[in-house]
Amino acid sequence: MEKVISDFMDLVKVRNQHEPEFLQAVEEVAETVIPYIVNHEIYKGKNILLRMVEPERVIMFRVPWVDDKGEIIVNRGYRIQMNSAIGPYKGGLRFHPTVNLSILKFLAFEQVFKNALTTLPMGGGKGGSDFDPKGKSDDEIMRFCHSFMSELSRHIGSNTDVPAGDIGVGGREIGFLFGMYKKMRNEFTGVLTGKGTTWGGSLIRPEATGYGTVYFAQNMLEKRGDSLKDKIATVSGSGNVAQYACEKATQLGAKVVTMSDSSGYIYDKEGIDADKLAFVMDLKNNRRGRISEYVEMYPNAKFISGNRPWDVKCDIAMPCATQNEINGDEAKTLLNNGCFVISEGANMPSEPEAIMAFQAAKILYAPGKASNAGGVATSGLEMSQNSLRINWTREEVDTRLKKIMSDIHDSCIKFGKEENGYIDYVRGANIAGFVKVADAMLAQGVV
Ligand code: NDP
Repeated sequence: MEKVISDFMDLVKVRNQHEPEFLQAVEEVAETVIPYIVNHEIYKGKNILLRMVEPERVIMFRVPWVDDKGEIIVNRGYRIQMNSAIGPYKGGLRFHPTVNLSILKFLAFEQVFKNALTTLPMGGGKGGSDFDPKGKSDDEIMRFCHSFMSELSRHIGSNTDVPAGDIGVGGREIGFLFGMYKKMRNEFTGVLTGKGTTWGGSLIRPEATGYGTVYFAQNMLEKRGDSLKDKIATVSGSGNVAQYACEKATQLGAKVVTMSDSSGYIYDKEGIDADKLAFVMDLKNNRRGRISEYVEMYPNAKFISGNRPWDVKCDIAMPCATQNEINGDEAKTLLNNGCFVISEGANMPSEPEAIMAFQAAKILYAPGKASNAGGVATSGLEMSQNSLRINWTREEVDTRLKKIMSDIHDSCIKFGKEENGYIDYVRGANIAGFVKVADAMLAQGVV
């Protein structure tokens, strides 16, 4: 089996030589899905996985815009349309200086499996730009978003490809992008999700990824007869996903003691309660400040510069910042400190050595493509509401989100439960996602 997997990876490496993140994501899937393919006659000889690692389409484009000083800046824009076997391409846009083809292809590949897991009819895609929103004025953000959309609008549509937010793309950016799409195409349509609630957005969409990550942790704990009550949780990041993971975990009885950004993390041993979280939300979303400012407001907390929060003792860790933010050593520190639940809010936050350590220790480890799928699932619910031209209540959307997270958990058990009772959530998520997409691809022939 190892030879079949390494032969497959050799093929993928030749074609994608300078794309380490993409190769990392493919290898994790290949290791679990290839043994399944080998044991299931219908997939044999169809090169299904080889077809799935090749994007249906990659779009790259120039994004010129004028800054506040009148200087012309040129950024690069991308959209990866990875797989449309089960529905229109769907996946976020990331604006961050580190964005490149490798990162977006890994995200688009993960998205294919994640979207299949949600039970909703959505294919997978991802896009973005190496534009850095930090330190830019609202006008600069608007000019960049308008330029970006003036090209992207040719390639997307409510039945073709429906982008959403990701790192650096929140409600403000979605508004500017939507405005330009509407102008270019002269249609008011559900082409983006994460819209404002007065112009087609869904209640709970901003909260959905973070809430879903916590619901998934709750599902894993409940399976063991346990709950979040009185658990100590560490969260990384202080953006959209981290904020709502912190909110829901606190509501369900856990004490969240850390949050972070790319400068370092804060440790508040008394817990980041609702009032403190409101301060963080205002700091990050309105004043666009740094997490270090937390300790000026709450002097009992500490700011640890340049580090990630994984050396803080906890029961539950929720990485909600970015890819590869837990390495093998940090995973061992988490385990040595008694952490026994990892629910990933970010995409691929754990390096392969960290995943191996979590699995060897047989803790409850949920990969992002399962545990953070609540965001895209609720985007799917936003698309449904747009098509129906109605708005569901907060309760209705939250109930659907909970049900979807619980269904994803069940799918992971179906394909990931081992004879000794241990649930391999990585294998479960990968195979469940694969089966749905692969079966659709088989039905549609070689296209
Ligand atoms: P935001 O831009 O709202 O927040 C990102 C947070 O992560 C910020 O605190 C940021 O700090 C920190 N961060 C970003 N890059 C790095 C880095 N290289 N090192 C350390 N910290 C970093 O993004 P989101 O909350 O939307 O996204 C967070 C993660 O969740 C991403 O992996 C994303 O792909 C994933 N995700 C998001 C979904 C969504 O609905 N938004 C859906 C599913 C997954 P700083 O301000 O210093 O940059």
